[in-house]
Amino acid sequence: MGLGHIIGHAPIRRLIARAVARGTLPPCLLLTGPEGVGKRRVALVLAELLNCDATETLVYSGTTVSPDACGVCGACQRIARGVHADVIVIEPGETGSIKVDAIRTVVGQAAFRPFEGRRRVVIIDGADRLVSEAQNALLKTLEEPASASVFVLITSRPHLLLATVRSRCPEIKFGGLATGEIADILVKRHRFDQTAALAAAASAGGSVASALELGSSDHVQARESAAVVLRMLATMPEHERRLESGSELLGGRGGGRLSTALTREALIRRLRVLGTLLRDLQLVSSGGDGTWLANIDLKEELTELVRSYDTDRTGRAFASVQRAVDALTRNASSKVVVDWLVMKI
Ligand SMILES: [Zn+2]
Repeated sequence: MGLGHIIGHAPIRRLIARAVARGTLPPCLLLTGPEGVGKRRVALVLAELLNCDATETLVYSGTTVSPDACGVCGACQRIARGVHADVIVIEPGETGSIKVDAIRTVVGQAAFRPFEGRRRVVIIDGADRLVSEAQNALLKTLEEPASASVFVLITSRPHLLLATVRSRCPEIKFGGLATGEIADILVKRHRFDQTAALAAAASAGGSVASALELGSSDHVQARESAAVVLRMLATMPEHERRLESGSELLGGRGGGRLSTALTREALIRRLRVLGTLLRDLQLVSSGGDGTWLANIDLKEELTELVRSYDTDRTGRAFASVQRAVDALTRNASSKVVVDWLVMKI
């Protein structure tokens, strides 16, 4: 597909294009950053770039000229289909770890010339799952890699790698994608309509994987639940009613009975959705441009709610939601966090 078709991560794409053009690409790289932002896609495009039969010229910002993979030649297509003999992707098996045997095999192969392409690219996705024995088996190759091979280690948890492995691979840090970039990906690659794409992207925390999850029925439910909570709290009710709204956040009420509690991740997603509603309320209450609403399909409901939620209240509530999400990611008790939060909205 080529670097030019990747959405977001422009500085990283530039860095890679330049390194390939100048022949300064290190023999091993460590791609780190949040899950679901496109690290593996970039690694595969790098493999295309190194093996493309019809390298194209890609112009960046009108000044720097770098090569790019064409995405259509035989080599590019075989890489995209996962059948190129010299592009090897290793990932955790059913056991959840990458065993030493898998690494010994590629290390053995790396000693030889590529079969069909110019460079062999070994992509280890989920490198933090390499058992220590496997990491040690990699070490010597990373120290003295065969010049025709490039190792790309991918992980969202680099701190779990052995320091010896980490220190040998220059790290490229990926950030989260912007909301607009995620929405763009959802529309172009996953057939979302623009409104649904923006709604999912707005609460995805920069990750396409989260946005895809959010585009699911879970998200619809989470948004309904978050809206119910805002309605319940609209009139600044008494303590008890507030705690009731907390139960709604924690799992929803079915027939007056608390249904199964949400997992921590699901609760975090639900709070992020609540955050997007509050941000939208802020926008509506300040008379901002409605076209930027993340939940534009709920505009009527938001306009209704804004009578109870002025700019100050939404601002404070949004900050509290952020604090609650932080606390949950640090493993605070879901119930304690939610009980605190519903007092702050
Ligand atoms: Zn090509």
